[in-house]
Amino acid sequence: MKAVKGKYYFGGVHPRGMKYLSKDAPIEVMPAPETIAVSLSQSLGKPAKPVVETGQEVAEGEIIARADGIISSDVFSSICGVVTDIKDVKGACGTDEKFIFIKANGKDDKFSFPPLSDPSPEEIKDRIKQAGIVGLGGAGFPSAVKVCPHSRVDTLIVNGAECEPYLTCDHRLMLERTDEIAEGARYIAKALNVADIKIGIEANKPDCIKAFEKYSDIQPVILRKKYPTGGEKQLIYIVTGRKVGVGRLPADVGVAVFNVATCFAVYEAVKFGKPLYERTLTVSGKAVKQQKNLLVKVGTSVKDIVDYCGGENSAPKKVIQGGPMTGVALADYAIYTHKTTSGILLMTDTEASADEPTPCLNCGKCADVCPMHLMPMNTAFYSSAGDMESAVKYGKTASCIECGTCEYICPAKRPLIQAIRKTKAYLINKITPQAESLRTPDQKGRSAPAVPPSVKNGKKEENNG
Ligand code: SF4
Ligand code: SF4
Repeated sequence: MKAVKGKYYFGGVHPRGMKYLSKDAPIEVMPAPETIAVSLSQSLGKPAKPVVETGQEVAEGEIIARADGIISSDVFSSICGVVTDIKDVKGACGTDEKFIFIKANGKDDKFSFPPLSDPSPEEIKDRIKQAGIVGLGGAGFPSAVKVCPHSRVDTLIVNGAECEPYLTCDHRLMLERTDEIAEGARYIAKALNVADIKIGIEANKPDCIKAFEKYSDIQPVILRKKYPTGGEKQLIYIVTGRKVGVGRLPADVGVAVFNVATCFAVYEAVKFGKPLYERTLTVSGKAVKQQKNLLVKVGTSVKDIVDYCGGENSAPKKVIQGGPMTGVALADYAIYTHKTTSGILLMTDTEASADEPTPCLNCGKCADVCPMHLMPMNTAFYSSAGDMESAVKYGKTASCIECGTCEYICPAKRPLIQAIRKTKAYLINKITPQAESLRTPDQKGRSAPAVPPSVKNGKKEENNG
C-alpha cells in the first residue's frame, strides 16, 4: 500500500539525530560471550523466580526463571553452559537486581518450542507467553498481556518510529527483516482478530517506508521527524487520530501497539519456536571505535560489547544504556544487557552536555514542548519545596510519559525528570490501587535520565539519517 502521512501532534523537539553514525551498518551477529549474567527483572512486573541451581547445565534457549505474576515474563539462558552463581548485583540504575550467571561449557545444546504452522489465535497467544516476549521498544510490558486486551481492538499499529537519537537497530531490522516483521505483525493481528495493520515510520527512514509499501495488507504511515513521535499515545494519535486519556490504555481506544523488534520476536517464536534470549541493539557515539548494529545475547556485559566494537576511541564523557533521551547513564561497564536494551552509547564531551543546573528562568519552554500539555516547571518547583500535593496538582504530573522532552529543552538544565519521578512515586504510594495505571513503561527500572545530546546553538545536524 502506498504510504500516507500521519497527523500533526502538539509539542516535541528536534534533537540532533546522530543516526548517520550507525544507520548504514548491517546487523552483525556478536559471538556468544564466555560468561553471561541474566537479570530476573526483564519486564515491567515482578522479577521472575529462578528454576535452576548453581552447578546445573543449561542449553541455549532453556528456561532459567519463571514469570511471577501476569506482568512478569519467563527468562531463558542465551548460551549453553553451567550456572555458576545466582546473586544480587547492582543493575544499570544502581539498585540491586538478582542475576543468574552462566559460563559457557563448550557444548552447543539448544532448546526451542515446536514450530507452529498455520497457528490458531489461541496458539499464537500461548506461544508469545511461552517465549517470554516483552515490548522491545524499551517498555518491557509482556506481549502476552497485550494480545489479550480487555476491550475490542480494531487496529494494530506497528511502531517503527525509532525517534530516539543515535538508535538505528530498528531501522536496520526493518530493512533486513522486512518480511519477518510483516509476518510477525500478521500473527499478532490474528491473535487480536484485527484486520487493520498499520506501520508508523519516521520520515527520516524513506528506505523502510518504501520496503513496507510492497504489502497489500499493511498500511505504512509516514511520521514527521520529531521526538517523541514513537511515544505510544503520540503514535496512536498520529496514525488514527484517537486520543488515549490519562490513566487509559491503547485498548480503550481500540488500538494495540507493538514495536517492530517485538513483531520480529513473535515471528521467530511462532515460526521456529525460539524463546526471546537475544535482540538487536545499536552501539554508537563518537567515543566508541566502531559504531555497529549487533544481534546480542541477553545478559552480555557492556564491557564485552564495547570490546567487540574495538573499544574506546577516546575517554567517553557519558556511557548510556538505551537512547540519550530516556536511557540510563552507566557508572561503569559491569552492566548486563536486558531484553529491553536497545543501545549502548559512548558519548564524547561534545555530544553529552555536562552543564550544571542553574535556577529556573521561568521561560516556559518546558511547557511549550511537552507533548502531554503539562507544566513540568511546576512539578519541579513544588516537589523541591516538599509540597507534593501542589506538585501533582499544578504540574499535572500523573499524565507524564517521561519522554524527557522538557529536560532536553530546558536552558537552565533543571533536573525535571528527577522531580517528575519523585512526584509520581509519591502519587503511586498514595493511591496504590491505581498505581499501575500511573506507572508508565518508562518508569520501570530507570533512575535519572541520561543527559541528552547538546544542541549546537540551534545548528542542524550534518546528517541525521
Ligand atoms: S517528561 Fe513529562 S512533563 Fe516532560 S515533556 Fe515529557 S510528558 Fe511532558
Ligand atoms: S524550561 Fe527550564 S528554565 Fe524554563 S521554565 Fe521550564 S524549568 Fe524553568
